[in-house]
Amino acid sequence: MRTPICNGCAWAKSLCPECKQKLDRGALSQLDVDVSRILYRINETHNISRASFLNSVDFGNVVILLTDSEPGILIGRRGKVVSALSLALGRKVRIIKKDGDIKRLIADLVSPARLLGINAVYSAGQEKLKIRICAPEGKALYLDEGTLQSVIKSWIEKDVDIIIE
Ligand SMILES: [Zn+2]
Repeated sequence: MRTPICNGCAWAKSLCPECKQKLDRGALSQLDVDVSRILYRINETHNISRASFLNSVDFGNVVILLTDSEPGILIGRRGKVVSALSLALGRKVRIIKKDGDIKRLIADLVSPARLLGINAVYSAGQEKLKIRICAPEGKALYLDEGTLQSVIKSWIEKDVDIIIE
């Protein structure tokens, strides 16, 4: 299993100098450490050793875990792994695959709302992405528009407009 902390730090009470330094310079968050430690424990009972956990994004009552391995590993059969994570963190957890596929990343992030389209628009020589989303009927998005906008913007390093239809 790959996580942002080393195997030793998964079981030790405090972090080794190397992981501690990553935490201090912000390459790692406390939530990343907590999630990694939980994953190592889950790995004792559910085999998730093929999982690769990149980092977590904290949205308060929702935590997103980014993975570059098959997301199904961290979801687990019938959602067992993600439920155990959610229980340990006391928050809702979503697993999202992060690789070069921006469209799928955004579609996963906004789900269960539907991604209708992504268009690049240019103004004053700057590229901006217009992302059109169709909210599920009668349901609110689990992340509000402003949060979606800022998280997508930080991931793709481009200006983003979210349009909900
Ligand atoms: Zn370490």
